[in-house]
Amino acid sequence: MKILISDAFDPSLPGRLASFGEAFDDKSRLAEAEVVLIRSKTKVTREYLQDAPNLKLVIRGGVGLDNVDRAACKEKGVEVRNTPQASSVAVAELVLTLMLSAVNRVVDAHNSMGEGKWLKKELKRTELMGKTLGLVGVGRIGTEVALRAKAFGMKITGYDPYLQHHDTVELRDSLGAVLADADYLSLHTPLTDETAGMINRETISRMKNGVIIVNTARGKLVSEEDMAGALKEGKVRALATDVWYSDPPDPGSPLLTAPNVLMTPHIGASTKENLLRIGDVIVEILSGWEKK
Ligand code: NAD
Repeated sequence: MKILISDAFDPSLPGRLASFGEAFDDKSRLAEAEVVLIRSKTKVTREYLQDAPNLKLVIRGGVGLDNVDRAACKEKGVEVRNTPQASSVAVAELVLTLMLSAVNRVVDAHNSMGEGKWLKKELKRTELMGKTLGLVGVGRIGTEVALRAKAFGMKITGYDPYLQHHDTVELRDSLGAVLADADYLSLHTPLTDETAGMINRETISRMKNGVIIVNTARGKLVSEEDMAGALKEGKVRALATDVWYSDPPDPGSPLLTAPNVLMTPHIGASTKENLLRIGDVIVEILSGWEKK
């Protein structure tokens, strides 16, 4: 089996793949590859598939498959797999990190100390205890976030039209009902035609003044222009975002210069532990594939 490792994985992965055949990271050898391992950087488009005549299997280490043209893969008989269960804890821990850091101005506090300032009076903090966290999408990551937020004493509501019941989250029957109550809003849906741009001027207008929004799902769930406007007006008190329209974002993205934005470079899944778990799932998938 010839396996192209097209994106960044744990350094132990090539060694773990040795028993399946030849694993290489030279992208110019795409034409030889029967299996391609990707994360979010490689885009498996129709054109990409034309350059991969031997390809039979694409494994996306992670959850979102929006960088894979699944219809084109199906037409070409290329199977597409992902490792959805591996990343939930890693992303959930980043969500809590962002929720705690955004309003506690941890980055400002750190930077001001380095500049020789002592902003003890200016840097007033805010507690999570007693606040309402609204989840949009209550799947694997939403659930892990809910469990952790519960430990902080938050009330957790959620909107997920595909769920009837959840043990930890009070499900509401409309997005509007979640938006109206949330002190913190965290996005956990896939990017689909239904969810693209779902956080926009109109939906933001239905939120509480001073809401704090965390986006670790996909950049395109949020209208950047509308969000930047709401941050400038103070309607949204803070946005913490790990995800962007593109990786890296266009230098002209209004979020890069809007006030009260806490930014990370798509590192939700980038824990050491998660990269090892992704490797475990890839080995499992390939073992099953070999037996076919
Ligand atoms: P999941 O499939 O387990 O959960 C998604 C949930 O969204 C499902 O329960 C689904 O019913 C719900 N949903 C679908 N359409 C909806 C809608 N219109 N409104 C409300 N809910 C809707 O997925 P997951 O593993 O929890 O991942 C969630 C998101 O996190 C995905 O977008 C994924 O790409 C992203 N993600 C980001 C990172 C990162 O590095 N930041 C890492 C992993 C996953």
